Order: sequence, then structure tokens, then C-alpha cells
Amino acid sequence: MSSSSSGRLPGTTLTPLSLIKHLDSKILIDGMLVSPHSKKTFPVHNPATMDVIGQAAEASAEDVERAVESSRKAQKEWRHMDAAKRGLLVSQCGELLEEHAEELARLMTLETGKALRTESQVEAKVFSNTFRFYGGLGLELKGETIPLSNSMLTLTIREPLGVVGAIIAWNVPLLLMSLKVAPALVAGNTVVIKSAEEAPFAVLRAAEIINTILPPGVLNVISGDGPTTGAALVHHPHVAKITFTGSVETGKEIYKHSSKKLVPVTLELGGKSPMIICEDVDLPTVVDGAIASMRFTRQGQSCTAASRIFVHQSLFDKFLALFKEKLNSLKMGDPMDLETDIGAIISPKQHKRILDYIDIGKTTPGAVAHECSALPNDPKLTKGLFVRPVFFTGLSNSHKVCREEIFGPVTAIIPWSDFADVLNQANDSDYGLAATLWTNDLHRALEGVHKLEAGLVQVNQNVVVQPGLSYGGFKSSGLGKEASLEAMLEHFTQKKTIIFNMQ
Ligand code: ADP
Repeated sequence: MSSSSSGRLPGTTLTPLSLIKHLDSKILIDGMLVSPHSKKTFPVHNPATMDVIGQAAEASAEDVERAVESSRKAQKEWRHMDAAKRGLLVSQCGELLEEHAEELARLMTLETGKALRTESQVEAKVFSNTFRFYGGLGLELKGETIPLSNSMLTLTIREPLGVVGAIIAWNVPLLLMSLKVAPALVAGNTVVIKSAEEAPFAVLRAAEIINTILPPGVLNVISGDGPTTGAALVHHPHVAKITFTGSVETGKEIYKHSSKKLVPVTLELGGKSPMIICEDVDLPTVVDGAIASMRFTRQGQSCTAASRIFVHQSLFDKFLALFKEKLNSLKMGDPMDLETDIGAIISPKQHKRILDYIDIGKTTPGAVAHECSALPNDPKLTKGLFVRPVFFTGLSNSHKVCREEIFGPVTAIIPWSDFADVLNQANDSDYGLAATLWTNDLHRALEGVHKLEAGLVQVNQNVVVQPGLSYGGFKSSGLGKEASLEAMLEHFTQKKTIIFNMQ
């Protein structure tokens, strides 16, 4: 068991800024927070104020080499530890992470601008639960026996792949970390994770906590940009698998390089998820579901956001009125304040991108932008990256706003009258991550779940990613699944066939 370089006892809760001082300019290798060889850093901002909250280490190719070699060394023992023992250690990580949930949630809120109550506290809980869930699955790493011949014993076993490179985005940094790290570790791999530039600290702190339980090198963390640090991890000859969450463009780039090395990839990419609302539903319930599903409380920064909402013509006007009323009641403000529902956009780049899409919508003839809620009036937030949630009417499904992933609090509400046609419109997208259907008509529901082209189709509800449920997209939304037992077996192990001659 390695000792944390923080020297703090588990359960200690610190304020986010003092935690960041402790994590500042560091990467985590061999169980220790260390400075990168590169000596380079980059600033990390609080999106709600644009204050610099700390410096993150910019890991060079040499630092990536250090991290991968450390994980490679640790692999030798970790892969041979009993699977149940590895699971037990990963479960213990879940317990300890739960003790630190509030601290991690606050840290995540400070660096991402997500509201503490509606987002970060919820995510911190799913984070520790995911470690617990996978921790219980050590003995599920089973193989098969094959009755090839009575004179032979033929069986398969599952072995780890080796060192896994995990590259994640900033929108749900802890959730993404857990979906990659927990199954990889239980399956006997070791992991080097690269955090997103915008949100390096919660991941680094979580890894520091985990490293008080796991042997050194089993989980290493680096930070840095995509082209330097991320690419060096992807290209490294001893990285046996890449698991990635981010944009479609980067996913394709990673796929290309991984194919040259002939290593497997899991890619969780974007979405432009449709929601279809039929005429037979309970309107208030559906409006709440639509607002939750559009992830307005995460400023729409979600791959599964319901960014195309198709409402039956007969309900359209009533739906719009109630949608507007409920959206107006959400409070935008200081993300750390427990009264706040909606926080800030992650970065100036994303902020501008979202406003550009809103302008494109606004200048489209016939389109109406319904801007809701209100910008915060707190003077300390004047430089914050806030955007009012907006829904458009008068846009068709073929409009740019309905085709491209905006990753902001922007959705289009489109009337429909023919079920076959609305299913076609829902499927008319490059993406296929998630879809939702609201109806009490069993026949329609069955037709919808069969015909909707998405990796996750929900009827009359919108649960977020849950440990146990396979999650992953069709079409340009990605390759492979996460969050489930199958995800661990299919994406973090390789099968070996063994034949004993019994004669
Ligand atoms: P986003 O627009 O959401 O930031 P990206 O795909 O650019 O999406 O980034 C997601 C993650 O991928 C980040 O950790 C980023 O640093 C990393 N990344 C970006 N480009 C590359 C690349 N060429 N190789 C490896 N990782 C990359």
C-alpha cells in the first residue's frame, strides 16, 4: 500500500482552494504527487469568475514515458493478484471516495463551474458507486469450457490487456474517470489517465485518494493538452488500449493512430439526442423530464442532452408554455451556492461557440429564440461564462442547430403529427447516442424502441449513466460500451484459449 504524499488521513475535507495548492503543478506517478520533467504548467480557471485557481502540470512525452513505465512495472504484480482481491481493493477505493465525496464535489464545481447541488454532488456519488459496483465483479472475469473432445480439457480464460491509456473530457470528469479506471483495474490492467485541460484537479485528487489503497503505479495521472500529452499517450508503444471520451474529431484521430499500433479502442463521442413526445402523456411530468434530459442544470454540456425535442402538434403550445415557465424558475448563479440550479460554461472557447450557434438560430428567418431564466446579478460573477438557457421554435430538423452538437443550453422544439415521420426525423442525424420516447401507448413504445437508432433508448424516463447499464453510442457517437459488466469483459480483457491433452 502506498502512502499519499498529502500525509492527510482519509476523511479529511479541505476547502477547494487549499486542496488545489496542494495539487498545483503536479502529476501523480508511483503513488506520489510529483513535478513534471517538463517544468511546464498552464492556468486553470473558475468559469464562474474567470479567476485563475491554480496551475496544472503540462506533461511532456518524457513524463508520459515515466507514467507508462511505472504502470507497466506495476502491471506485473497487479495482473497476477487474485481477481477477487483486486475487486476488494477497488471496492475499498469506492468506500474511501465516498468519504471524500463532498470535497471532490466542491473541487469539481470550482474548476468546471457546474452547480454543486444539482450536478457535482450527484456525480461524486455515482463516482464512488461505480468503484463499488466494479469492485464486486472480480469473480465475473470468467471463461468457458468447450467440449471439444473427451480426451482434452479445453477452456478460455480472460486476461488483462496491459497498460490502459484513458483520455477524458471536462464535462463529467469524475464520472468519466470511474467508467474507465474501475473496470480496467478490476480486470487486471493498470491505467495512465490524462485529465482534460479544463478540469485536472478533481481527477488528480481522486487518484491521490485511490493511491492510498492501491499499489504504486497501478493508477497514474498526467495532465496536459491533447496534441502533446494526449497524443504521446496514444502513440506510446506500451499502451495496449485507449479508452477515450471527447469529440468526434479527436476520437477519429485516436482510432487512426491506434489502428496503426493495432490496439483496441473504446470511444465515447458526441450526440444530438432526440426526444419524442406523443399526445397521450402527462404534460407536467414530461416537461420535467425534458428539462432534466436536456441537462439544463449542466448548462447542456452533456453528450446525451435532448437537443432535439419533437412534440406532438396537439400539445405543442401547452408544452412550450410550461417548458418556458419551468425553465424560468431555474436559478442561475454562483455554482458553489446550494440555491443555484445552473452554473457557468466551461471555457471562453465553448462560451463563444454556444453564443455563435444561438446567433445562427436567431438570424434564421421564422425562428424564435426563447431565452429563459436570468443571468446572475452577483457582482463577483460579472466575468463568469454564463449563458441563458434557450429553446428555439421555428427551426427544422435539417437546420445546423439541429444537426451539430452544441454542448450548451440550447435545444430546438419541433412539432410533429405523423409517428413514422417523426421517427425518421429522429434518426436523421450523424449521431446515435441516446433517444427518449414519452408515450403510454404500448404499440408505439415498442415500435419506437425498435426503430430509434441510439445506444440508449428510454421510455417515459431519463436516468443518467448508471453503473450496471451498458452505455455507448451508435453511428458517430462512438465505439464500444461502458458502465456495465459486459463493458469490463469486452473492452478490458482478452481471451486466451487453453487446451490440455488429458490422454
Ligand atoms: P472537447 O472539445 O470536449 O475538449 P476534445 O476531443 O478536444 O474534446 O478533448 C477531449 C480529451 O481529448 C481532452 O483530454 C483532450 O486533451 C484530449 N485530446 C485532444 N486532442 C487529442 C489528441 N490529438 N490525442 C489525444 N488526446 C487528445
